Amino acid sequence: MVCLISLARLRQEYYGRPADGELVVERTVKEAVHEPGHTCGLAHCDNPVCAMFFSNYLEDTDRKGPDFYPSCRAQLAKPRLRSRDVRRIHPAGV
Ligand SMILES: [Zn+2]
Ligand SMILES: [Zn+2]
Repeated sequence: MVCLISLARLRQEYYGRPADGELVVERTVKEAVHEPGHTCGLAHCDNPVCAMFFSNYLEDTDRKGPDFYPSCRAQLAKPRLRSRDVRRIHPAGV
């Protein structure tokens, strides 16, 4: 599993504001939870404080927390097919 996260737009300086290292770390942690959530099959969540909430603006990122809320956590707990299992079921890769 590989996820890439760009920090450029998480920095206050990008918006012409004074640097805030702690805020960048907080935002990075939230993204570092959100993106692997997609990789594990989670869609965006309607709960604005869940890590899987879609951040249209930085204010969304700042409002949400670094944790999955119960509905997302429950989905993560369900067993899923791994990609190698899918290849075994569909050898042509369809
Ligand atoms: Zn997302
Ligand atoms: Zn959620």
